Amino acid sequence: MKISDYTNLKSKYIPVANLSCEDKGLEFWNEETAYFYYPYKLVNLMQFKSHKSNYGIDDNCFLLCDSGGFQVITGKCDYDWESSIKQQLLIGATRLFAFDTPPITKKHDASNALFVDMAHEKTKEIIKMNIDIALKQSNYLKQNAPDRIKDFFYIMHGGSKELLDYNLEVLDEKIGIENYSKYFGGVCYGAKSPERIMFTTNLLHAREHFIKKGLPVHILGAGAPYKMVLLVRCEMTTFDSGTALSGQTYWAWINHMGTAKSGGLVGSLNTHGWPFDGQFCDCPVCRNVDYNKLLSNEETRKSVGEYIMGHNLYQMVRMTTFLNGLKKDKYTEVIQEFVSLPNDVIQALEYIDLADKEGFEVAYSKYKHFIKKDKSRQESLF
Ligand SMILES: [Zn+2]
Repeated sequence: MKISDYTNLKSKYIPVANLSCEDKGLEFWNEETAYFYYPYKLVNLMQFKSHKSNYGIDDNCFLLCDSGGFQVITGKCDYDWESSIKQQLLIGATRLFAFDTPPITKKHDASNALFVDMAHEKTKEIIKMNIDIALKQSNYLKQNAPDRIKDFFYIMHGGSKELLDYNLEVLDEKIGIENYSKYFGGVCYGAKSPERIMFTTNLLHAREHFIKKGLPVHILGAGAPYKMVLLVRCEMTTFDSGTALSGQTYWAWINHMGTAKSGGLVGSLNTHGWPFDGQFCDCPVCRNVDYNKLLSNEETRKSVGEYIMGHNLYQMVRMTTFLNGLKKDKYTEVIQEFVSLPNDVIQALEYIDLADKEGFEVAYSKYKHFIKKDKSRQESLF
C-alpha cells in the first residue's frame, strides 16, 4: 500500500473545512499547493454558488456537503427536496445526501448546539416522511442523472436501536429492502449520541445492515479521536467531523507525540499561553510555519489557528491510518496499550468484539442495559 495516498484506507476521516485558505499551503485538498495533500473535505452546501471546480476543488477531491436539512430546521436556509438535490448535483458533490429533517427540536431560546430528541411516535412520523422524500429524490435522479443513484445516500435517524430498525421496516414496506441499491448507493447515520454504547450500537447496526452487504456507510458529525477508535473498528467507510477545525477556533491541539498516557488526546493551547519557544513539531504543516513569529504580531496572530487546524488534520489522518492498519482481533488489546482510553470506550470495544463473536443482536441484548438515558433528551416538546 502506498502510504501517501489514502485511497486504500477502509475507513476515512472527512474533515469539515473552509472553502479556501489565505496560505495556499493549508489548502490540503489542492495537490499543487498543499503542505500535506489530503483530497477529502466536507463543506457547507450553502457556501457554493456553482461547480466545485470554480472553488479550486478538482475531481480528485472527495467532496461532501450536508443536504441542507439541518440548516432548514435551524432557520439558516430554505432548501427543499428538489433544490437540495439540484444544488448538490450542480456543485459536483461526490456523495449526494437525501434531504432529511432530523427528529430533534431546538430548545426554547437556545443556541443551535442545544437540541432535544423528539418523542418516539413523532420521530417515527419524521422517519416515514424522510423516506418518502428520499424516494422522491431517488426518482428525480433516475430521470435526470441516473448515473448518480450509486452516490445517493439515505439518512438514517433514530436515537435507539428500535428506531433504527424502524427505518429498515419502513424501507422494506415501501421498496423491499432487497431492492435498496436500486434506489440508493449507500447510507448515512446521524450518530450524534454522546453516549458510547448507543453510539456503538449505531455503528454495529450500520455494519450489520449495510457494510456487510457491500454498501458504503457515512457517519455524520462524528470523528473526535475516541470516536474515531470505534468508527475505524466498525469499518465505517467515511465519517466527518469538525475536530481538526476546532484548532482554528479554540486552538484545540491534537496530541502529536504518538502516545497519550494522560490528559486525553486533545489539549488546548490558549489556556496557559504559548508553551513553545522553538520548533516542536515536524509535521508537514508545522515545518512550514514559525509560530512565534506569527504570534508576535496582532495581525498575523489570528492565522495561528489555521496552522493548528492543518497540524490537527495531519495528526488525525496519521491516527486513522494507524487504526486502519490494525488487525481486528488484536485491536482492543493494542489500542489499550498505546492510548489511555476512558472506561466507556474500552467497554464499547468489548461490545464490538462480542458482536464479532456472537452476532450483533446477541451483543446488543447484553449491552443495551448499559445505555445511559440522558434525561434532557427524553423530554418531549410535543
Ligand atoms: Zn504539527
